This record gives sequence, structure tokens and C-alpha cells, in this order.
Amino acid sequence: MYEDLSLYIDGQFIKGEGRREQDVFDPATDTVIGKLPHATTEDLDRALTSAARAFEAWKKTSPTDRSKILRKVAELARERAQSIGANMTLDQGKPIAEAVGEVMMCAEHAEWHAEECRRIYGRVIPPRMDGVRQLVLREPIGVCAAFTPWNFPFNQAIRKVVAALGSGCTIVLKGPEDAPSGVVALARLFHDAGLPAGCLNIVWGVPHEVSTHLINSPIVRKVSFTGSVGVGKQLAAMAGGLMKRCTMELGGHAPVIVCDDADVERAADILVGFKFRNAGQVCISPTRFYVQEGAYERFVARFVEKTKAIKVGPGSDPTNRMGPLAQKRRIAVFSGIIEDAHQRGASILAGGSTMGEAGSFYSPTVLADLPDDSRMMNEEPFGPVAGMVRFKTVEEMLKRANSLPFGLASYAFTGSTKNATAIANGLEAGMVSINHIGLALAETPFGGIKDSGYGSEGGTETFDGYLTTKFVTQLN
Ligand code: NAD
Repeated sequence: MYEDLSLYIDGQFIKGEGRREQDVFDPATDTVIGKLPHATTEDLDRALTSAARAFEAWKKTSPTDRSKILRKVAELARERAQSIGANMTLDQGKPIAEAVGEVMMCAEHAEWHAEECRRIYGRVIPPRMDGVRQLVLREPIGVCAAFTPWNFPFNQAIRKVVAALGSGCTIVLKGPEDAPSGVVALARLFHDAGLPAGCLNIVWGVPHEVSTHLINSPIVRKVSFTGSVGVGKQLAAMAGGLMKRCTMELGGHAPVIVCDDADVERAADILVGFKFRNAGQVCISPTRFYVQEGAYERFVARFVEKTKAIKVGPGSDPTNRMGPLAQKRRIAVFSGIIEDAHQRGASILAGGSTMGEAGSFYSPTVLADLPDDSRMMNEEPFGPVAGMVRFKTVEEMLKRANSLPFGLASYAFTGSTKNATAIANGLEAGMVSINHIGLALAETPFGGIKDSGYGSEGGTETFDGYLTTKFVTQLN
């Protein structure tokens, strides 16, 4: 049975009750599976005032008490992973194993924040004068407004919620209207774990209307957004005009470098598995494959062979490895990128078309020998496509890889320490993963540079965006 969709305000789950409702679709069948209530302006204001009221008490709770709730959330997430995952497969489309895996992984995020929030330390600075005490205090910033996307509905939301709550902030979160079940399930976890009313509020609506209302409210002190670069810049500008702190996790266009001296077959096998996860709708998905001349033919042949073997179909069938795109509207954007590549003389070595009668299915696609100025090599494709190009020297490749405004994830495969070091130092990216895929763990910082945004989620950096620094100097 699909999730009972609702708003969550001041500790209460609120159904439609006359509010505007939005249809939620199963992208594997195009059928309506649920109705999502939109928050009225009064609902948004109630979410804000309850978050402000709850903040006064929550900021004074001990980290140990906050930690207990976050641990309980982790425990409940593991217990409910199957049902939360099944609902995410229904409204987002990803294979059931990936959806359940997303929830299990998020239990780790809750635990990491439960542990780390007990280590939010200040500092004592030695004074210049006898009798003076100089303290640096780190305090929760206040009420946060967060906006999360549909590609990892549960993961993107919980990372913001545990960072806000762990640091002593309260939060109003607007999740993805197209794939809302994971966020409603998240609210139930916190509710059942005993989080006081008002600390977490979930709202839905027309995205720009909700974000404009929340960001402009004097109650909100911090804005966190995960989504596209374009929307991120709009929200950051709005928040900047009001001097509100931001964390921006925006798009990427991850380069992958495969050098002549890499274990080419191993690299191809690892990268096919990773590339088509969540139908490539992943901000850290490898997209631009720079393969050195001597390895090119072998790497591409192996990659194409493995890509063609991927079984595509509804995510609810556990034998399918790739589901549909999450929304129908993405097909047009995606097809345009493939068509542009074709017109510019690139070869389509696998896929390149929609699949099936119903649903938003697109075949896993490999494009080869793309010109550097093709759309594929410049726009984030956010779908199941890999673009292959050749390079001669590491220096030349680094220039090309760094030529875009994005700077989120990057990957490299090489057998040489010299290449690995040159690539790790030379790539303009927030994250570099060499000879394996090792990003997005709870204990490691996740975030981008350049147009891909700023601020880190995860790692010991995770609370930085949610805390203010207060300096106290005191003469006794
Ligand atoms: P989008 O930016 O329009 O939407 C992303 C999410 O933001 C959606 O859930 C949407 O409802 C919400 N949104 C849109 N406009 C908003 C507004 N004015 N205020 C508040 N929320 C708003 O992009 P899209 O086309 O739906 O999704 C694809 C893009 O999302 C990709 O380009 C990708 O870069 C980005 N994305 C980035 C990350 C990341 O971690 N950096 C993760 C997922 C998606």
C-alpha cells in the first residue's frame, strides 16, 4: 500500500481536508498512485511559528538527548527500510534494491550525526591579560528552511534534517512533490522516535511559491537546497539579499579519467555499475569519460558490452537493474542531448531511445567520440548516458575536464601514483575518487565548488553550516 501522503506541521500529520492536491504518478506505468496536499499560506506560517517556538526549547536540549533521538531514528529506519523502499520505487522508479539500500545507508547518516553532535566543541583562547577568559562558543543558527529533490528523496532530506536537528536547529522542509513518500516516511520516523512537536515540519506546494515564502520569512535564518544550478542560484540570491546563510548542493557533470596504465576492464566494470544506478539521475554520476588513447578501444568495448546487458524495467521487479526516469518531462531534455550528439557526428554505441509503451523508460546509452562543444559534454545530462572522448596527455585532459563551470564529483583510474597525484591536485572538484567509487559516506564531506555550490553535508564539516560563532571575552 502506497504511503498516506500528508503535511507534517507542529507534530501533526495533516491530510488534504479541502486543500489543493497534486497527483503523484508511478513513472513505470504513468498511473496516479496518490494525492499530495499542498500547504496553504496559513500552513506555511504555522510551520514557521512552530519551528520558532520549538527552537527555544530544542537549542537547550543536551547533545546526549538529541543523540538518543537520532539513534532511535536510525533504528526505526532499518526496521522500516523495506516498506519505505517499496514506496520510493513506486513514486520515484528506482529498483527496489537501490531504494531499500538508500534507506539503510541513511540510518548510518542518522547515527553519524548522533555521534558527531556530541562533539560540537568551542574553544578557549589564551588571554593577553591575567583575569581575562576568552571563549569561542558555537551556537545553533536558528530555524532552517530546506528544499530537497526527487532523485534520492529519503537521503537528500534526512541529511539536511539530521544536520539541523543535531546542531540544535529546527527545520521546515519542502520535499520533492513528484516523489514524496520517502519524506513523509521520514517525518513518521522522527515523530515515532519522540522528536518534540515543531522541531521538524514538512510542507508541499508549488516549489518557487513555498521557497519564496519561507526564505523571506524573518523567522528563517538558514537555507539549504539540493537541486539544479539554476534554481540554486535564484535561492542563494534571495537568501543573500537577506543575509541568510546557505548550503547549496547543486548539479555536477562529473569527469572520469581512465589512463593507459589503469586496470581497464576493472574500471569499466565498476563504472558501468555506478553510471546507471538510479538511471543516471545522480548529481555525482560519472558523465564525461576521458579515456587515454592507448586504453580507449578496450575500455569502450567492455563498457558497451556491460551496458547492453543491463536489464531495464519496473523497479518493483527485483531482476531489473534500471528503472524508468523519474519524470516524463525529463525524456524530452534527455532526448535533445542525444540528438545533438548524433547530429555532431558522435556514434551511439548503445541505447539512444525510449523503451516500452508506458512509463518513462530510456535505454542505457553510450555515446562515443563526442566533440567537446556538444551539449552532452557541457550540460548535465542527469540520465542514463555516458559520453566517451579520447585524450593524449594528463595535462591536456585536465584543462578540458576543468573547462566547465561545474565542480562536484570526479573520478580517475590509473596504475601510477604520479598520475593519481597530478589528477587529485589538478581537478577542480569538491570530491575526487581514485581507483574506486568512494563518495557520499556518512563520515566523509559531500559538496561541490564553482557552480556546484558550497557547504558540506556529512563528515566532521556537517554542522558548520548550522552553527554560528560567538566570541566571549570576560574579565573576572
Ligand atoms: P530543479 O532544480 O528544477 O528541481 C530540483 C528540486 O528542487 C525539485 O525537487 C524541485 O521541486 C525543487 N525546486 C525547483 N524549483 C524550486 C524553487 N524555486 N524553490 C525550491 N525548490 C525548487 O531540477 P530538476 O530538473 O527537477 O532536477 C534535475 C536537477 O537537479 C539536476 O540538474 C541536478 O543537478 C539537480 N540535483 C542536484 C543534486 C545535488 O546533490 N547536487 C541532487 C539531485 C538533483
